[in-house]
Amino acid sequence: MYKIALLPGDGIGPEIVPQAVRVLQAVGEKYNREFQFETALIGGAAYDATGHPLPEETLDVCRNADAIILGAVGGPKWDNLEPHLRPERGALLPLRKKLGLYANLRPAVVNPALADASTLKADIVSGLDVMIIRELTGGLYFGEKRREDLPGGGQKVVETLEYTTAEIERVVRLGFEMARKRNKKLSSVDKANVLESSRLWREIVERLAEEYPDVELNHILVDNCAMQLVRNPKQFDVMVTENMFGDILTDLASQLTGSIGMLPSASLGGEVALYEPIHGSAPDIAGKNLANPIATILSAAMMLRISFGLETEAAAIEQAVDRVLQQGYRTGDIMQPGKIKVGTVEMTEEIIKALE
Ligand code: ATP
Ligand code: MG
Repeated sequence: MYKIALLPGDGIGPEIVPQAVRVLQAVGEKYNREFQFETALIGGAAYDATGHPLPEETLDVCRNADAIILGAVGGPKWDNLEPHLRPERGALLPLRKKLGLYANLRPAVVNPALADASTLKADIVSGLDVMIIRELTGGLYFGEKRREDLPGGGQKVVETLEYTTAEIERVVRLGFEMARKRNKKLSSVDKANVLESSRLWREIVERLAEEYPDVELNHILVDNCAMQLVRNPKQFDVMVTENMFGDILTDLASQLTGSIGMLPSASLGGEVALYEPIHGSAPDIAGKNLANPIATILSAAMMLRISFGLETEAAAIEQAVDRVLQQGYRTGDIMQPGKIKVGTVEMTEEIIKALE
């Protein structure tokens, strides 16, 4: 039996998480696996109900689970709260920190049926399958932040970027391991020509590389990397980088694939892993049965593969998604001329049918 914590959150979260559950139940029936679900509050929904975006009870539910599926948090309703009560800063960042989730994995895969939906030409992206690993708990986002008033007027701002050897080593190692499982190619992204943190990063990558002689390693500067991702993304396979570079590059890579509604992610490193779509809470379409559930359904597939080792079941979900897209079913975000427009629930039903 596998225990799964469900954190639907805000906006479209409560619409898409139940779709992943339905698909998991169908997979469970087909392959005789038992999944047990427990739902907990997070984000604005938790704030409204309890006065805090990340209640202690939610953390307990997460710690008791074998894996977590998160929808999304946030929305205009909570934007003006004090920072520590806002869904993103008050729930998402502390949740990752408290669970020790130091690596965020985002595959950027172009579905064969959607190669012409990319912002780039189909031949540049078709067949694209890149895995970006982003460090999640260090760097600029967590360093010291302060402002000082200057005597002559104006202000000075200080923002520190901190990393320890151990923090870099664990995420880079995950990169090498992932490369070994895939196509034995790792690109380490840094800015070693300017940043001291990147010089340490590169030293550590070089040292670990000796343990992975079978993995072909290259170092690439982040600015060049952004350019190369747009120019010729298929040169990459597994990429590993620090927090802020990863934040930017993963969003860029997501657009190569067509829709933000298609891409899953995993956050690993701690006692329990967390799986979520890369998109946000999409308040503009919430409650209308318009959201694309595929990113969340594929996140559930990632969970089966990475946390539970259920490769056959994970692949079955991925193939069902491919089949449904091949058949022409589309939610609004990936709609193309001549295709069949469906809502959140109907898309899920087609995926479940395709599983059988
Ligand atoms: P966040 O700060 O939480 O990332 P955001 O406003 O930056 O939020 P999203 O919430 O991801 O970004 O929404 C960006 C756009 O993409 C919106 O127009 C939204 O409707 C659309 N979108 C996001 N997710 C989906 C989805 N699953 N299906 C369809 N459209 C989506
Ligand atoms: Mg966003």
